[in-house]
Amino acid sequence: MSDVGGANAGSGNTIPAVILFGSPGSGKGTQAKLLRQNCLPGPHISTGDMLRHHIEAGDEIGQEVRKLMKSGRLVPDELVNRLVDIRLQDPDCRDGVILDGYPRTLAQAGVLLKLLRLRGMVPVVVHLMVDYEKIVARLSGRRQCPVCGTLYSVSTNPPKVAGICDRDGAALVTRDDDREDVIRERLRQYELQTRPLLEFFGTAGVRIFEIAGGSADPASISGDICRFLESVKVGSLRVSGS
Ligand code: ADP
Repeated sequence: MSDVGGANAGSGNTIPAVILFGSPGSGKGTQAKLLRQNCLPGPHISTGDMLRHHIEAGDEIGQEVRKLMKSGRLVPDELVNRLVDIRLQDPDCRDGVILDGYPRTLAQAGVLLKLLRLRGMVPVVVHLMVDYEKIVARLSGRRQCPVCGTLYSVSTNPPKVAGICDRDGAALVTRDDDREDVIRERLRQYELQTRPLLEFFGTAGVRIFEIAGGSADPASISGDICRFLESVKVGSLRVSGS
């Protein structure tokens, strides 16, 4: 775990925009939920969830992104930038936000820093580092209930009856983008397009906190992140005893 430094966080008067950064399967979604519970104000904004909602709704955006998402490729920058810009204007973002899966390209990162500056928000990157082979194993074992959305893991969090949702008895499915070939493509896209953002953030003076995402349990990772955020005066620690 390390704080890679940065100049513009922790100045005391800041509205945090915590950017959860890491490859697919690094636990960004899980950490976003825990951070909200434990130490950060503001909503969890996941561009992947936003895009999936459009697909479910079958609207124009959904139709535009469906094929790209199924194949593990990224959707156009202008589209996600627009969705995030609109979302950041919602009143619940006033005290801060937790970004998950955004930004993912240099073009997105540039736009985000401008959007945040306009709103007086300060970005802090939390980089969840994990081993790719573990990710492939974890994601390809993931199953989801098509009715209520609950996620299971064949190895670490199986349903009581194999293949059946505990809550509503529906047959579980593998998300299209959790197939092994698609996972490898998502990891390739991450290496190619997203990982280079770390250098961009570093150059832009954004504070980056690096933590091993796969080696500890999610609650203790969350505790470490909350302590770091508190140390840079972002968020308030509400995790007792961790
Ligand atoms: P993961 O982090 O596990 O890849 P997400 O739910 O964040 O899962 O993303 C799923 C898919 O949604 C991505 O593979 C990509 O096609 C699309 N997507 C999500 N966020 C972005 C983004 N910021 N830019 C471009 N495409 C995105």
